[in-house]
Amino acid sequence: MKINKWILSILTILFSANVFAYKIIVPDIHESMTRSSKACFDKAMTTKTEPKDCLVDLNIDNIEVWWMEDSSLAFYDVLGWIKRGLNYTADLPDLEDAVRWPDDPTKEISAGILKIGSKLLTDTCESYRDAATGIIDLNAGLICVSHYGELQFLHAQASSVGEPASDTHNKIISWASFLYLVASRKLSNEDLNEDYCTYFSEDSLFNRAMLPSNLSTPCTSNKGKWKVSSLFNITCSSPKPSAWGCNEWVGDASYDKARIMATGALLHLVQDSFSQSHAERGACEIEDNKVVAKVECKPVSRFTTYKGQENHADADFMPQFKSSCAESEMIDDPILAGAKILWYIENAESLDDFKTNVIYKVFGTPEYVVTHGEPAGLGQCFVNKL
Ligand SMILES: [Zn+2]
Repeated sequence: MKINKWILSILTILFSANVFAYKIIVPDIHESMTRSSKACFDKAMTTKTEPKDCLVDLNIDNIEVWWMEDSSLAFYDVLGWIKRGLNYTADLPDLEDAVRWPDDPTKEISAGILKIGSKLLTDTCESYRDAATGIIDLNAGLICVSHYGELQFLHAQASSVGEPASDTHNKIISWASFLYLVASRKLSNEDLNEDYCTYFSEDSLFNRAMLPSNLSTPCTSNKGKWKVSSLFNITCSSPKPSAWGCNEWVGDASYDKARIMATGALLHLVQDSFSQSHAERGACEIEDNKVVAKVECKPVSRFTTYKGQENHADADFMPQFKSSCAESEMIDDPILAGAKILWYIENAESLDDFKTNVIYKVFGTPEYVVTHGEPAGLGQCFVNKL
């Protein structure tokens, strides 16, 4: 596939036993699930009926994963092949790139192993935790805030132990809704050009998490002030917080890039929520001194938080799909949910329908979570080292 994958594979081997072994431990899991969802979506498009059942096959590799024209080369994209022959490379990412955006939102992995290694391995992110509030906010940069701070909901996780399930759920649904508005073009180029801090200025739990607490970069800095689309278009060349020393990709294509990345971020959110170390669904299982990586199509009973977890990566390996996925009416499996995400975006269905028919069938309704959700914790299998 991409150079990224090679770097990820090398990183996995190098760092699989330490703190770095966070969400990117399994180089291929998100890509495999995405290919399977895309295959199901492609089939649905040929019959023009909404996906209802998808084959859970994580070994599909012979499908095109481009999402918008020019996002990679489809076999029949003759003009694309001519451009490739002339050394032209596509401007826009494909779905396999996009689904990894939440793991590497500022493209620090592809820029070099040393950079990300020095950053995560020396606990740089923790050093940006505010002593007074105990939080890591956007000023620590996107990669830190999404893995260790207030934006852990990008990975279907809570931001701290004890966070009420309804709060985590609220932020996840708000994030999914925002991504859907971007991905399905309900936000125009002009909307995406709006000031980022103005867009998220109305007071809400979700908006507070999206903004830096003292409204510095990216709200006020002369150089680094963000637009809505900036979130998806920034690359950083420095091991310092992503908000510093970064470059933004601008121009007309940046809006479509934001839409593709938002599509990938939606797939990622749903896929992560089926990892037991991110969100507990049913009881966790241990086999041969390892947490079993499995997908249960049951409602989330507890969101977890990453800081302090042991064995986190065990659950991020290629999962077994349990029988609940064949039986559940209430919760879709992640492959079907992914295919439906693509279907709803492609057909620009209403946000309300998207929430009701897709997102609530992954995360449950707010009413359900208020009644049944436990406050966030480390997770049954992740409190002590096995
Ligand atoms: Zn993740």
